[in-house]
Amino acid sequence: MSGFTPRALLDPDAFRHNLAQVRRYAPTSRVWAVIKANAYGHGAEWAAAVLNAAEGFAVARTDEGARLRRAGASRPILVLEGPVDTDELEAAVELDLTLALHRWGQVELLPAVVRGRLPKVWIKVDTGMHRLGFPPERVPAVLDHLIGSGVPIAGLLTHLANADVPEDPRSAEQCEQLRRLAGAARWPLSIGNSAGLIAVPAARSDWVRPGIMLYGVSPFATGTGADLGLVPVMTLQGRLIAIQQLRRGAAVGYGGTYICPEDMPVGVVNVGYGDGYPRHAVPGTPVLIAGRRVPLIGRVSMDMIHVDLRPCPQAAVGELATLWGSGLPVEEVAACAGTIPYELLCRVAPRVRLEVR
Ligand code: PLP
Repeated sequence: MSGFTPRALLDPDAFRHNLAQVRRYAPTSRVWAVIKANAYGHGAEWAAAVLNAAEGFAVARTDEGARLRRAGASRPILVLEGPVDTDELEAAVELDLTLALHRWGQVELLPAVVRGRLPKVWIKVDTGMHRLGFPPERVPAVLDHLIGSGVPIAGLLTHLANADVPEDPRSAEQCEQLRRLAGAARWPLSIGNSAGLIAVPAARSDWVRPGIMLYGVSPFATGTGADLGLVPVMTLQGRLIAIQQLRRGAAVGYGGTYICPEDMPVGVVNVGYGDGYPRHAVPGTPVLIAGRRVPLIGRVSMDMIHVDLRPCPQAAVGELATLWGSGLPVEEVAACAGTIPYELLCRVAPRVRLEVR
């Protein structure tokens, strides 16, 4: 790290390893690597370059797909939310993005913009998530309309609502519903996200759409990526920029919510909620300094946090502090902040430097 600027250190080998793990769980599936939301905070262009062994990429929005095309990504790029109007549809077809159509308005618009081109079109089916997708009973009409208008169909896609709860029977039911719809036509299917492809055998479909596991993080509420053979790609680091030797009874930080129980060293680390560290991390949330876990104390500020340095009295100003990643699972920090790791990763702020290891 040059200077003291906080960084998100990115490990390309971990990224490739995690893709290989996806293939171990779903050996016969093709993979859309989900790199929406700037690759869950890791940098979408970098992610696309490192994951060039994936058969395709998935993003949420057309402009995310356009960004990847501008960066030179030539693989199929699936746009999960689908285009909203004719202009966006036109742009998506022009950029050869793969479309996930989920409402009738899109289906009606598409034939008009095709003009001899052959867009790649998946039909998104709502099998129980009730977010996006056609109800199963409408799918035959959608297929008839598009095929009748000369638009080829690549397959049927659905999203599982409860895959992160492995024993929930609704996941298998959702898969079964999609398979029934594919019927005699045997349309290719896309079902599994990370939790689905790990825990629901029926979700290991022709194409899977892993996101969080590629970043080395578990999709489940308990355990960590390491339990699933994954390695974290991002390690968020700042530095110890001050050490206060405080007296017993001293109040620390905004609101003085932490009172020193004895004379003690208190460290100040230069990462705060302005960098994406969660404001709601509870006192005691671990921070890794010089190989030791030290607890967060007091309130999280915009640019800094306080830590109790008693477990690590040898630490000096300038020492690296790991907020999550290698040695400190982001799953653990997220639990301490009452959120999920997805949110922490996506929220890493632009002022944090993304630095490839
Ligand atoms: N498929 C769809 C439709 C999604 O919305 C997402 C993520 O939100 C994914 C796949 C990837 O999910 P995960 O990151 O849990 O693997």
